[in-house]
Amino acid sequence: MNVPAVDIESVELDAPMFDPVAFRLTDQQAEWCTLARKLGKTKFADRAFEVDREAKFPTENYKDLHENGLLALCVPERFGGGGAGYQSYSLVAAEIGRYCGATALTWNMHVCSTLWSGPLADDLEMSEEDRAAHEKRRAIHYKRIVEDGAIYAQPFSEGGAAAAGAVAFSTEAVPVEGGWIVRGKKIFASLSGNADYYGVLCTETEPDGTKSRRNTLYLAVDATAKGVSVVGDWDPLGMRGTVSRTLLFDDVFVPETEALMPRGLYFKAASNWPHMFMTLSPTYMGQAQAAYDFTVAYLRGEVPGMPPVKRRMYPTKQIAVAEMRIKLEQAKALWFQAVTEACANPSKDQVLRAWATQYTVMEFANDIARLAIRTCGGQSMLKSLPLERIYRDSRCGALMLPWTAELCVDRLGRGALYEPGESDE
Ligand SMILES: Cc1cc2nc3c(=O)[nH]c(=O)nc-3n(C[C@H](O)[C@H](O)[C@H](O)COP(=O)(O)OP(=O)(O)OC[C@H]3O[C@@H](n4cnc5c(N)ncnc54)[C@H](O)[C@@H]3O)c2cc1C
Repeated sequence: MNVPAVDIESVELDAPMFDPVAFRLTDQQAEWCTLARKLGKTKFADRAFEVDREAKFPTENYKDLHENGLLALCVPERFGGGGAGYQSYSLVAAEIGRYCGATALTWNMHVCSTLWSGPLADDLEMSEEDRAAHEKRRAIHYKRIVEDGAIYAQPFSEGGAAAAGAVAFSTEAVPVEGGWIVRGKKIFASLSGNADYYGVLCTETEPDGTKSRRNTLYLAVDATAKGVSVVGDWDPLGMRGTVSRTLLFDDVFVPETEALMPRGLYFKAASNWPHMFMTLSPTYMGQAQAAYDFTVAYLRGEVPGMPPVKRRMYPTKQIAVAEMRIKLEQAKALWFQAVTEACANPSKDQVLRAWATQYTVMEFANDIARLAIRTCGGQSMLKSLPLERIYRDSRCGALMLPWTAELCVDRLGRGALYEPGESDE
């Protein structure tokens, strides 16, 4: 990709989304966020145009993420990673999302393979035996990531009700000597054709062939294994660089060592660590910030490459920016609280707040981008500027299972009105 050489150390950075003092970040968190803003501003922002236009995976960005330790951000320190937890991941991902939505979103899929198998798994109940076996197995995955820059994808969608958590995954894992035979199909598999491993959610079938959500397995399938293929095209409205094509698993042998979680643990995580499904929100939080920042710079006549025409003196512009700022502050405050309190066994209020957060971020990000285009005007939506891409990319957030905007509203309403076990049917 033709990106002009920029001195990463001398470039003037954008202000942090979450000021380290005001939001009481640790020094380490502030450093990671600065690194993300440096990479975003000097490299990802320029490459994002081609990534979007060609719907191609941001391979160069992944090299930068690896070289700067960010592929291993959530790998525990004793395995050579950054040791970041949920809140730190979220803050860094939001900063990346300001510059390239597709990079932040795919990086989310990759990081989840370490966050879920790492700090989240450590919070969950396991037998001593399972914990010891998990410790050994995850060391294999973490070594690949830390040393070789291996990339993990996270395909769970199948086009049916499983991705929403309503039924067991159709993709099945049949136990055999030394592992499983995996067969099935995953749609919208971001990073397809570009990941080294696919972290597949599938169901370990009972001997009588029945499937239960309790028997969900989370297996890393080698992208080069016999029987794995990537099919179909990818030409969507937004988040084009995610390259979310269809994956087929045709009797793929997956060794026991490739389990990213012990048997039964994914089901426990989904039930007891619900914020695990909120990890897509940082990308869109970053997009909301980017749309707002662009608007302020544009109306001040400060967008690089554009004539320095000021438009800030018109009251209608000022009102629109105020409206955008109010939405941005609302989303950021709620989001920061939700990512800060994410934990195992959250209270009912915390879960309702997580759904409200996901809804708010996904809907507000696109709404702020909509207001940005309306307010800045025709020249702002040219393909030479990032705003129209942010508008398209930000539309995708509300559609992403299992916590789509619709499902969040659905669960919030029911959750607020009913206590566990209550029913009117
Ligand atoms: C850019 C992008 C990248 C993606 N990357 C990945 C990825 O890496 N891995 C992955 O697994 N998936 C990924 N997805 C897929 C995503 O999570 C969804 O699975 C996909 O968008 C679902 O589309 P669908 O039309 O099949 O949804 P449908 O299942 O048809 O649902 C349509 C809508 O109906 C509602 N709905 C669905 N089920 C229920 C229910 N049980 N009750 C009530 N309402 C319901 C929801 O609001 C949903 O939005 C990606 C999607 C996008 C847009």
